[in-house]
Amino acid sequence: MNTLVWLQRELRTTHLPALQSALAHSAQHGGAVILAYFHDPAQTVGGAQSANTLRLAHGLTYLRERIRKLGGDLWIVAGDFERALEGLIRTQQIGAVHYTYQPGEPFQTMQQQALTVCRRNKIALQPFFSESLLPPDSVLNGQGKPYAVFTPFYKALQAQAARIEPLDEAVGDWSRLKPADPACSVLPESLQALMQRPWAQGLMANETPGEVAAWARLQRFAQEDMADYALQRDFPALPATSALSVALHFGELNVRAVYCYLLALQEAGGVDSGGSQAWLRQLVWREFARYLLWHAPHSQFEPFQSKFAAMPWDEDAAALQHWQRGQTGIPIVDAGMRELWQTGTMHNRVRMLVASLLTKNLNQNWRVGQAWFDYTLFDADPANNAMGWQWVAGCGVDASPYYRLFNPVLQSRKFDEQGDYIRRWLPELRRLSAKAIHAPWEQPLECQMKGVRLGVDYPLPIVDLQASRAAHLQRVEAMKTPGNMT
Ligand SMILES: Cc1cc2nc3c(=O)[nH]c(=O)nc-3n(C[C@H](O)[C@H](O)[C@H](O)COP(=O)(O)OP(=O)(O)OC[C@H]3O[C@@H](n4cnc5c(N)ncnc54)[C@H](O)[C@@H]3O)c2cc1C
Repeated sequence: MNTLVWLQRELRTTHLPALQSALAHSAQHGGAVILAYFHDPAQTVGGAQSANTLRLAHGLTYLRERIRKLGGDLWIVAGDFERALEGLIRTQQIGAVHYTYQPGEPFQTMQQQALTVCRRNKIALQPFFSESLLPPDSVLNGQGKPYAVFTPFYKALQAQAARIEPLDEAVGDWSRLKPADPACSVLPESLQALMQRPWAQGLMANETPGEVAAWARLQRFAQEDMADYALQRDFPALPATSALSVALHFGELNVRAVYCYLLALQEAGGVDSGGSQAWLRQLVWREFARYLLWHAPHSQFEPFQSKFAAMPWDEDAAALQHWQRGQTGIPIVDAGMRELWQTGTMHNRVRMLVASLLTKNLNQNWRVGQAWFDYTLFDADPANNAMGWQWVAGCGVDASPYYRLFNPVLQSRKFDEQGDYIRRWLPELRRLSAKAIHAPWEQPLECQMKGVRLGVDYPLPIVDLQASRAAHLQRVEAMKTPGNMT
């Protein structure tokens, strides 16, 4: 019998226990190994036309070429997942399916479908848990319950750091992989068409898929930028963060391999230890997001704190569209939304500011913002995106309290003091001084002198920041009155 290794978000050729174990079994007992990705357009992150799906298409193209150079092959199977999986199991004499667990939708549904299909066909389905630092059930509090606050989780994980197992780098003999059938040896037509869209080519301009580029970026970042990471990471005009979230999402980089690499580098004195600790702490935020979806899968789409289910959100399609298009009249927010649309990414600090404006000032449901990020972000990730939105909206774990609203103008002055980030994405405000650029409506004279017609060249704010802040606080206070809490 043959073994099927089903890839989801592990687009790499190293540190892959699901494949290692299948190849070792095949070497000992015979039988071939089929390595496959199933592309079901109905089960994508952000939809079949999303930035994430586009990036997936490029990631798969790269991976297939790389595997072929190593002497193996990647099957790319298109269509309804359940049917495609069952078809492959029956036509290819599959005796076991190996996969790597991924949290959140669409992965949960597909993993459940895989279980149904394997049971129906009486074959083994073997999960591997290599995409987290520690198995999610192993970090629990004194009462044996999962943590719901980051810092104690972080400390508990650090206390168990010795148990983080390095993964073997090499996977085994690639020639044991069965060459793909002709129908599965080309990229599905829908992905090919997506890659050919004119906007898609522009969006990919600065994106290099694949594990080799990701490792090179990590090494460069560790040597050149990590020392300043803690001090500079909040300033969106600076290239101070790693930009590795896309590679981590697609599994081009394995989190445990990255963690072990940095620890070894620290021990050898090859990296600033303060900087790398600060960066690894962010990697643990990623771990925490995945841990939360394991323990509370509903929290991808429902408030983690159930009392927020009663939140009286508005449904303002016009406000949402202004926000999506970067036309709110609040420069730091518009700069972020245009960066997102043009590049498929956005700086973390600015993600927090745009999310705060949408949920707290404009009172739009965080789910709407989450869906837009799912559609537009290359790194759109079920776990990180849900946690990020709920954190800002105030309904998640360890969330920014509901009564704390970011003032985007103050934040802009603090983290983009000279307005460099705003100027990069809002050419219409390029000529404004550092004093005027954060809140042009407060400096009508300068706008007039510099030829910026407010309401014509650049919008006036679509929301009064002070009044909307007060309204938000009133809404959440009202929710607290008896009978309004769930
Ligand atoms: C509203 C909102 C939505 C978000 N949606 C996503 C998303 O869909 N996908 C995603 O990967 N990140 C998301 N984030 C987290 C964060 O903004 C990005 O991970 C970060 O901007 C990626 O840039 P970087 O790789 O340069 O990060 P670095 O600063 O270099 O951090 C290193 C790595 O740590 C992880 N990380 C960093 N910050 C966070 C965080 N706050 N939460 C979880 N993991 C983190 C990422 O994997 C990142 O690549 C969101 C944050 C907010 C506030």
